[in-house]
Amino acid sequence: MNRPDLLARLESARAAREQAGLLRRARVCDALGARRIVRGRALVDFCGNDYLGLAGHRDLVAALSRTAAAEGVGTGAAHLVSGHRDEHAALEEELAEWTGRERALLFSTGVMANLGAMQALLGAGAMPVPGRASALCVQDRLNHASLIDGAQLAGAELRRYPHADAEGAARQLDARSELPAMVATDGVFSMDGDVAPLPALAAVCRARGALLYVDDAHGLGVLGAQGAGSVSAAGLGTADVPVLMGTLGKALGCAGAFIAGDAAVIEGIAQFARTYVYTTAMPAALAAATRAALRLVRFDREGRREKLAANIARFRTGAAHLGLPLMPSATPIQPLPMGTATAAVAAAAALEDAGFLVVAIRPPTVPQGGARLRITLSAQHTPDRIDALLDALARLPRPAESAVV
Ligand SMILES: *Cc1c(COP(=O)(O)O)cnc(C)c1O
Repeated sequence: MNRPDLLARLESARAAREQAGLLRRARVCDALGARRIVRGRALVDFCGNDYLGLAGHRDLVAALSRTAAAEGVGTGAAHLVSGHRDEHAALEEELAEWTGRERALLFSTGVMANLGAMQALLGAGAMPVPGRASALCVQDRLNHASLIDGAQLAGAELRRYPHADAEGAARQLDARSELPAMVATDGVFSMDGDVAPLPALAAVCRARGALLYVDDAHGLGVLGAQGAGSVSAAGLGTADVPVLMGTLGKALGCAGAFIAGDAAVIEGIAQFARTYVYTTAMPAALAAATRAALRLVRFDREGRREKLAANIARFRTGAAHLGLPLMPSATPIQPLPMGTATAAVAAAAALEDAGFLVVAIRPPTVPQGGARLRITLSAQHTPDRIDALLDALARLPRPAESAVV
């Protein structure tokens, strides 16, 4: 028998990745307040997405413990069976109100929200014609992996446009004007920190009858009034961006995700998103903790967004003073281009020696030649920690100019 072996193929792909110096490994990073303990050393975390420093907040911990004590941990069933609790229903209502939409639907993770919602929006009701896609999905080149996967899972024709290029999106739509279409974009790009040209994309979609889908994993909690995100900050509403996806594991400091929009759209997604229908509902205690987080995010009595903005400004001013090649980002995501994966890994190791946890981001997460340190800021960082990080960055060997893409 000469059937090729799947495990052998997997092993050769893994070995090739190792040769290229691109293996990824999970390390144990214990949490001690805002610090991370790695191999017995306390490091200051400059790579997480807990932008407002809420993950360890006493209100979240109290809500989680209280609800788990009353209701137990697991929900034991999917939302549509018997897993949907009061806390989920209340959280969905509060998320809808926060984002100015009729209804929100909870998912267990952001990856699942994107896979399920895109599958429903692009695939439900389509008449399969062999060899022909039944929908078009146009995406920014730098979109999150789960958006790309969502379009593929739905069997849509996927076309990509150059980063943040609304005219490029229009050209891709025009190339397939016979298909129903969606344009999908990150609101804030996860590895670059810049904000999508949302008003221009909304105009392109409006003129061409396409649906705009925004994944605001990194904008919610950070941008806009009450932290309602990049769509709200751009002055856009449900008519411009009918489908908004948000995650609960970043600025909200919890875990999970939601899709928000008009009630009819959300009802359709609830019927057809397989990652919603066929999965166990998130713990009610987690929904309770997220409600506590949402109150802190919206009303921000502790001034966390202001502290975060001050920290971003301090970092950027200091980095510019050092002549570091900053990227055009006004958000907590402040990447430093390193060119090669080797340079990025060496820089991350040097920072770790100096007491900072910053992770090297390498291809395929970013394009070839685009390896970088993805530095993220949080409201919890103190000015002296930011200054100390800048000192450590100043001591890094500079990547050769030619290697920087
Ligand atoms: C993190 C992230 C996701 C996935 O969210 P999880 O809840 O971590 O699964 C989706 N989209 C973007 C842009 C992200 O940054």
